[in-house]
Amino acid sequence: MKFFKGLILMMFLGASVLMAKPTVYILATGGTIAGSADNALTGSYKSGAVNVDALISAVPQINEIANIKGEQIANIGSQAMNNETWLTLAKRANELLKQKDVAGIVVTHGTDTMEETAYFLNLVVKSDKPIVLVGAMRASTSMSADGPLNIYNAVNVAMDKASVGKGVLVVMNDEIHAAREVTKTITTAVNTFKSPNTGKIGTVNYGIVNYYMNSTRKHTKNSEFSINNISALPRVDIIFGHSEDTPDFVKTAVEKGAKGIVLAGVGNGNPYPSVEEALAEAAKAGVVVVRTSRTGSGSTSVGAEVDDAKLGFVTGDNLNAAKARVLLMVALTKTNDKDKIQKLYKEY
Ligand code: GLU
Repeated sequence: MKFFKGLILMMFLGASVLMAKPTVYILATGGTIAGSADNALTGSYKSGAVNVDALISAVPQINEIANIKGEQIANIGSQAMNNETWLTLAKRANELLKQKDVAGIVVTHGTDTMEETAYFLNLVVKSDKPIVLVGAMRASTSMSADGPLNIYNAVNVAMDKASVGKGVLVVMNDEIHAAREVTKTITTAVNTFKSPNTGKIGTVNYGIVNYYMNSTRKHTKNSEFSINNISALPRVDIIFGHSEDTPDFVKTAVEKGAKGIVLAGVGNGNPYPSVEEALAEAAKAGVVVVRTSRTGSGSTSVGAEVDDAKLGFVTGDNLNAAKARVLLMVALTKTNDKDKIQKLYKEY
């Protein structure tokens, strides 16, 4: 009798473990997804007006599939995203993902700089568990708001076993993108997020997750970077190239103490002649100079029209300028050796 009672108890415990909902944390940072407007047909709204509890209660369906816990990290439009918030977010993600009961994290975020935050977390969070960034192009009060379904999909992606080990992900408009690849391509449309060099890695349709690709670059658990003991990141500026350009901005960046400069050059990462000269001087003075392209896709070739070896420049592989800046900031926490940094652009 005792044996049977024990058996039934074990079966009951086993079943409840199997039925237990995964815990997913929603870390809210603001953005349009938390935005509100006076009427349903306006593009003018206040970013970051809705808090994490209101966001969660707008999508009650997520409580049926997961044990949802919310935390407010910030409540800002992502044009105001900053190093301090990045470090707070990354440190909290590291803490939470260490907890056995946490399956994954969803970060709600404005779309303007979502790609930068996603890539930053991809470089510094030390876990294979899913971290999914999600946002909305339409405020929560808009007609056909896209936020609620995006959140529902993001929670499904964050709790899906197939998302483990894929690095940080961005879920928007039924698509799953890798943090390194994704970029915002349209100012206002809901299909704004694209991965121009590689394409999306998966889809999520009313919560049904399918993957088709894997990112080949190092990330999260395999990353050598750590921010646990870091309280500030070095200054890295971006210089946007154009015809009839001026070296003034490069000179100002150096004077103001930039440790790195990323050029969003024309075509294959090319600088205007006087800008090239100023960048070479900066490199000689110890500032790490990384060439990228303003075209939006393709990789910047080493030594094509610019003599990188002679001028002391690094190239940013196929990262856009904003992402090349993120990697340079993180890399500079470890080294300012330009050859080592060039290698990192091939690995991350
Ligand atoms: N500027 C806002 C932000 O990035 C709007 C973009 C959005 O969230 O869609 O927070």
